[in-house]
Amino acid sequence: QGRKEVPEQQLFLVELLAAEIGAAIDRANLVALLDTQSRSDPLTGAANRRSWDQEIDRELARAPRTGSPLTGAIPDMDHFKAYNDTFGHLAGDLLLKDLVTAIRAELRTGDLIARWGGEEFALALPDCDLAEAQTIAARILNVLPSGQTASIGLTQSRAQDTPRALIERADLALYAAKKGGRKQVKTSYAPPVLGLVRGDGSA
Ligand code: GH3
Ligand code: MG
Ligand code: MG
Repeated sequence: QGRKEVPEQQLFLVELLAAEIGAAIDRANLVALLDTQSRSDPLTGAANRRSWDQEIDRELARAPRTGSPLTGAIPDMDHFKAYNDTFGHLAGDLLLKDLVTAIRAELRTGDLIARWGGEEFALALPDCDLAEAQTIAARILNVLPSGQTASIGLTQSRAQDTPRALIERADLALYAAKKGGRKQVKTSYAPPVLGLVRGDGSA
């Protein structure tokens, strides 16, 4: 009642405009999807190496500027090859997915989890010192899927750290954890100046 007829031509223009807007939204969604895909590991959804490289550069630059600690961690499944051999590669894939979900649940917004190698991940924990990181790492060991165990190497960043130096120290700590019998967290302390990298007694 009282509604005016919309002229045919106006209706046509409105339809045209709606179609254009729809197409623009589709394009924007596609661009967003491609952007996410280019930054993440397809299996687990964790960040990929490319994304890690970008993020860790930014975090390492930010830490000394803000004076807040940054801790790097490398969790690595224990005897994952045996898990694959026993339960099959697909079960192994599923375990990796579940692992990322489980780790993510223990992390904060702003923490980064990246797939570093096959069954090895790298975490960047901003505003988190070694003591806090140890608590988080211990929690992660407690929530591993399918009754599996993992080892974790931890190291705190220091001024002048490069992404590579950070990873190398975390890797040393991980190696110590494996050597120490697995299913544990080890810490690698940064050298005071140019000294050797020391672990906490065993690295
Ligand atoms: P360790 O306790 O010393 O870490 O032993 P490990 O068996 O976990 O380590 P190793 O490096 O010997 O073997 C890693 C295994 O991870 C071997 C490889 O088949 C498996 N792997 C790597 N990427 C994937 C993947 O995407 N899916 C599955 N299912 N397995 C993978
Ligand atoms: Mg392993
Ligand atoms: Mg490994």
